[in-house]
Amino acid sequence: MRLYDTASKDVIDLNLNQRVRMYVCGITPYDSTHLGHAATYLTYDLIIRRLEDIGHEVELVRNYTDVDDSILPKARELGIDFLELAEMEMKRFKDDMRALNTVAPAHEPRATESIEAMLRLIKKLQSAGHTYEVEGTTYFDVSTFPGYGKLSGYSSKEMVALARERGGNPDSKNQRNPLDFVLWQPSSEDEPKWESAFGAGRPGWHIECSAMSMEALGETIDIHGGGGDLVFPHHECEIAQSESITGQLCSKYWIHAGLVAYQGTKMSKSLGNLVFVSELRKEIDPRAIRLALMAHHYRQDFEWFDEEGPTAQFDLELLVSACDDAEPVWSGNLINQVRRFLDDDLDAPAVRAIMLREASGKGDELGVVRAGELRAAGLLCGLDLAG
Ligand SMILES: [Zn+2]
Repeated sequence: MRLYDTASKDVIDLNLNQRVRMYVCGITPYDSTHLGHAATYLTYDLIIRRLEDIGHEVELVRNYTDVDDSILPKARELGIDFLELAEMEMKRFKDDMRALNTVAPAHEPRATESIEAMLRLIKKLQSAGHTYEVEGTTYFDVSTFPGYGKLSGYSSKEMVALARERGGNPDSKNQRNPLDFVLWQPSSEDEPKWESAFGAGRPGWHIECSAMSMEALGETIDIHGGGGDLVFPHHECEIAQSESITGQLCSKYWIHAGLVAYQGTKMSKSLGNLVFVSELRKEIDPRAIRLALMAHHYRQDFEWFDEEGPTAQFDLELLVSACDDAEPVWSGNLINQVRRFLDDDLDAPAVRAIMLREASGKGDELGVVRAGELRAAGLLCGLDLAG
C-alpha cells in the first residue's frame, strides 16, 4: 500500500510488519461529532480495512482528550462538571462512529486516566534537561531538540504564526523561545487539578498524546494519524517529547487527513456552521455519509455542500439495488481494481466512481458474479450494500 507520508513529503510504499500499531488523535469530547471528524476517522478506517484485507493485524488506539484548554471553558459555560460533559459527548461520538460502521479501536485511553504516565514522561524530560519552569508552569525547551519542525517542514516564522493561531502562546514573556510549549501548568480556581512534583495542576495538550501512545503501543508506532491541522504544533511537539526521551522514531509514518469546510466557509464552532453527523444521520442513511465522503480524496481539504447528502443517498440506493443481496465475491477484475485504487494513496474517489459505474452500467442485467464483487468492494470500504 502506498500513502502520502507527511514526514517524507511524498507518496511512499509502506513497509509494515504483520502487526501494525496505529495511533490516531481522537476528539476533545466537548461538542458533537461533525463531518470533519467523520472524514478524518473514516480515512483511517479505510486504511485499516485495506491493511486487514492484505493480511495485516491492525491495533488502533484513538484517545479522548478529556482535559484541555477547550473542554474546561465549555463545561464552565454549561455549568456542568467537565467529566460529565466528556461522558455525554463520548457517548454521542461512539454512537456516531458505530453508525458509520468504523472498526472499533483496540484501546481508547482517556487523558484524565493517563495523568501518571504523563508525569513520568515530564520527569524524564526534566532529568534529561529538556524543561524549565516559570511561575509554576513547566515548559518544553525546543532549543534542546534540533529536529523540531522536521515533520511539518515549516520555517520558524510559519511555526510562530501557527502556534499563535492554534493554542500556543508564542508571545508569552515567560517562554525562552516563542515555540516552547506547556508540559504542565497550574489550574485555575474552578479547573481540575492533580498533585505532582511540578505543582498541583494539569497537563499541556501535547504531552497527553505522547503518554497515551507510548503506554498503549510502545516507543515507536507504525502509523500516526490525525487531521491536517495537527501536523503543527501538536504532532511536532509529540515528536519532540517522545523522541527526546526514547531516542527512537516516535512513528514510522505520519498520515494526515484534509480539513472540511462548509459551503464556502471554514467549518468552525465559533461560526456555528458545524455539520453534525447525528443530524445528518436523521436525513440520510449513515452508509450514504460514508459514500459521500468517499467522493473526496483524504488529503484534499474540501467544502461540504448540503446537496451532497441526498445525492449520496440516491447513489447508495443504486448500489444496493445492483448488489441485489448477492454473496460477496473476493476475486475478479472489479474487486482487484478497487484494491489497486486503495493501494494508490487511498484513492476512494476512484473506488466510488468505478462502483457507481458498475452499478449503473449494468442495471438489472448485472451478472451474479459482478454483483458479488460489488458487494465485496462495498464491504472492503465499510459499506454493507445488502438491502
Ligand atoms: Zn494527539
